Amino acid sequence: TTDRLFNFSAGPACLPIDVLQEAQEDLINWKGSGMSVMEMSHRGKDFISIADKAEADLRALMGIPDNYKVLFLQGGASTQFASIPLNFTTAEDTVDYIQTGSWGSKAIKEAQKYVNVNVAATDKPNNFTNIPAQSEWELSSGAKYLHFCANETIQGVEFKYTPEVGVPLIADFSSNFLSKPVDVSKYGMIYAGVQKNLGPAGCTVVIVRDDLLGNSRPECPAMLDYAIMAENDSMYNTPPCFSIYMCGLVLDKLLKMGGLSEVEKNNKAKAAVIYDAISGSDGYYNCPVNDAVRSCMNIPFTMADSDLEKEFIATAAENGLVQLKGHRSVGGMRASVYNAMPMEGAEKLAKFMKEFQSNHS
Ligand code: PMP
Repeated sequence: TTDRLFNFSAGPACLPIDVLQEAQEDLINWKGSGMSVMEMSHRGKDFISIADKAEADLRALMGIPDNYKVLFLQGGASTQFASIPLNFTTAEDTVDYIQTGSWGSKAIKEAQKYVNVNVAATDKPNNFTNIPAQSEWELSSGAKYLHFCANETIQGVEFKYTPEVGVPLIADFSSNFLSKPVDVSKYGMIYAGVQKNLGPAGCTVVIVRDDLLGNSRPECPAMLDYAIMAENDSMYNTPPCFSIYMCGLVLDKLLKMGGLSEVEKNNKAKAAVIYDAISGSDGYYNCPVNDAVRSCMNIPFTMADSDLEKEFIATAAENGLVQLKGHRSVGGMRASVYNAMPMEGAEKLAKFMKEFQSNHS
C-alpha cells in the first residue's frame, strides 16, 4: 500500500484503503460462503443480506424518512436525466431547472426531449462561477418539479443551502453525495452515481418520496420506472451486485467514523488546505469560483502563467499527486477531494503548489 498514489480524479475516484483491503480479504470466498460476491445469485440469502445492510446503513447515515424509497440502479446519473421526466411528468407539463454548470446543462438537454423545460436561472453568462440568488429565479407556475445540480463536478460550484420552493425538489448529488448531512425530507428525489464518494462505478442511488411514484408515462421503459424498481427491491433485473457490495463496505465505514457531520468536518478541513494554498499564492494560482459557492469536493484552479500548467500537472504526477488535469471542457487543473482522500493528500498537494511556485519565480 505504500506505493499508492494520491488520486485527485473526479471519478471514478479513490476508495478508502481499509475498504479495499476488506474486499480483498473477502474476494475469493466471501465470509465462508465458498464463492466471491461477484459469483453469487442476486436472489440468494447471502447477497440479499449484503443489499439489505447497504440500504439500512444508508438510511441510518442520511436519516432517510420511512416514506422514501431507496433504489440501487444502473445507467449512471446520466440515465436519471431521462428517467426523471419520464416518471414525474406528461409531455404537456412544465418543469423548472437551475443551470449552474455542465451537468445541470446535460440534465436540461435530456429533459427537453420529453417535457417543457423552463430554465429558471442560469449562470452561463458568468461561465458558471456562481449560483444565481434564489430571489432571481424565474419559476414557472405549476411546475411539476424543480431540478438542480447540488455540486457541479466540472466547474466546482456547490449549493450551500437547500432551496425552498413549492414543488418537489430533485437534485443531482453525484459528486457531493454523503459528503455532508442533508435533510432528505426537503426533497422529492435525490440521486447520485456512486463512483465518487461511495463505491466503484456501476451503481446509481435514487432516494425518492413514495407519493411521487406510480405516475410514469406508459412508454417509460421498465428499467427506468422507479415504481417498478421499488416494487422489486431494485432487483427487477440483475443489479450491479459487486458495486452494491463495495458501497456497503463504505457505508459501514462512514457510520463507524461517526456519521456525516464528522465526514463534513474532515472535508471542509481538507478543502480549506487547498483553497488556502490558492488564495495565499498572490495570484500565482487562481480559482475562478465565487467564494460563497466553492465546492468542498472539486477544486478547479488555473495559473497566472497558463503555459506552466502542463509542467505543473506532470511534475505533480512525478511526486505521486495524480489526475490533476482539469476537465477537457474548461482546462486548467482540478483537485477532487472526495471523502476517501486523506488529509495527508491535501497537505501534500498544498505543499507541492508552494514549492512549484517558489521554484518558478
Ligand atoms: N452528474 C454529476 C454532477 C456528475 O459529476 C456526473 C459524472 N461525472 C454525472 C452526473 C454523470 O454521471 P454518470 O457518469 O454516472 O452517468
